[in-house]
Amino acid sequence: MNILILNSGSSSLKFQLINTSVERIERNTDARLAHGVIERIGGMAIITMQAEGKPPVRLTEPIRDARAAVEYVIRWICSDNAEIETVKSVADIHAAGHRVVHGGEKFTRSVLITEEVLRGIEDCIELAPLHNPANIKGIVAAREVFGKGLPQVAVFDTAFHQTLPEHAYLYALPYQLYRRHRIRRYGFHGTSHRYVAYRYRQIRKLRREQVNIITLHLGNGCSAAALRGGDSVDTSMGLTPLEGLVMGTRSGDFDPAIIDFLSAKEGLSAQEVESLVNKQSGLLGISGLTNDMRELLDEARENGDRRANLAIEIFCYRVRKYIGSYLAAMNGADAIVFTGGIGENSAEIREKICGGLSWLGVELDAESNLRQTGGREGVISTDDSRLAAYVIPTNEELLIARDTVRVVEHVPQRF
Ligand code: AMP
Repeated sequence: MNILILNSGSSSLKFQLINTSVERIERNTDARLAHGVIERIGGMAIITMQAEGKPPVRLTEPIRDARAAVEYVIRWICSDNAEIETVKSVADIHAAGHRVVHGGEKFTRSVLITEEVLRGIEDCIELAPLHNPANIKGIVAAREVFGKGLPQVAVFDTAFHQTLPEHAYLYALPYQLYRRHRIRRYGFHGTSHRYVAYRYRQIRKLRREQVNIITLHLGNGCSAAALRGGDSVDTSMGLTPLEGLVMGTRSGDFDPAIIDFLSAKEGLSAQEVESLVNKQSGLLGISGLTNDMRELLDEARENGDRRANLAIEIFCYRVRKYIGSYLAAMNGADAIVFTGGIGENSAEIREKICGGLSWLGVELDAESNLRQTGGREGVISTDDSRLAAYVIPTNEELLIARDTVRVVEHVPQRF
């Protein structure tokens, strides 16, 4: 089956076209046929698209809205320009898989999108006001373009974390707030944590119940998850993706009393404070330079910039604290797994994080650590390390494509 994966944001649309099937999943022979992104939808859009093995196409064109963007992608995929041998018309696209950010407590796995499911996703808008409306637009646009005959599947960022026990997902706030407003920890990046856990299981040839690991998704957004018996039992992001680790522009954990203090001292509205902690904090806020870890590392190395170094130090320190607390929460683990742009590529950051974990039994193999970059998968700890460390590049789109096939073919989803 050719599956179109759509990740619809407020002004962007990312897509991939992946050929997969139940047999291909079993044999691990799924194939990506094309991918791309349309940015600045609503104005003069910047379009980047590439069919596998062909040169990338880059152009600008006015694109009105989400529907026009979906139409554009499909027209290109089916056109002679794209040169995708097996896709010549809309009939050659067999299903669509959508990334949906918030599934609340309603969605614990990926589902076929029906009217009822769409209403369920709408019900979660209050929990993710920036993301879910954009995801819905993408779904509705795809429906309009493909018609109702094409199966469409929703894959939720929150679903994997629905196994969190009550004591991990509840905040110590008055309980009726949870009852009334569903205020609790939901967690995000679930598709990524689930994918790397699945790969870890394959590499180590384990059964799902034997997976006891801490997964660290370190990208522009960052989150940690504690996986016991294959299930997510704790995670660092909360009601929203703001909580937890230090991120590119998000603060992660901080004393909530700072919000009132800040608005009084700086004369900021609630909205301005929210923007400050989400968009101007984290690596960017501390360094005053950039939210991009690679640039910070360069700045620290080449110019010895004090605040770049400080941002890196605070980032790594927070990750270490989470690893320590999850080891306590889980009563020990077998491995920590790095993924995301920083986790997959920066040997230096992995070294800084693991260097402070020697008491916990983490011993990195310097050479393997240096080797594991640019999409390479493998172990980075020594053979004697009590707690192993791995790098496993994430592939959320592949998991969305596989879930889409499983839902359409009524095959149980593998977690
Ligand atoms: P993501 O959101 O997963 O795409 O990750 C983006 C983050 O990964 C940015 O902070 C990048 O600077 C960082 N990143 C990518 N490559 C490297 C690298 N080689 N070294 C350090 N950070 C990197």
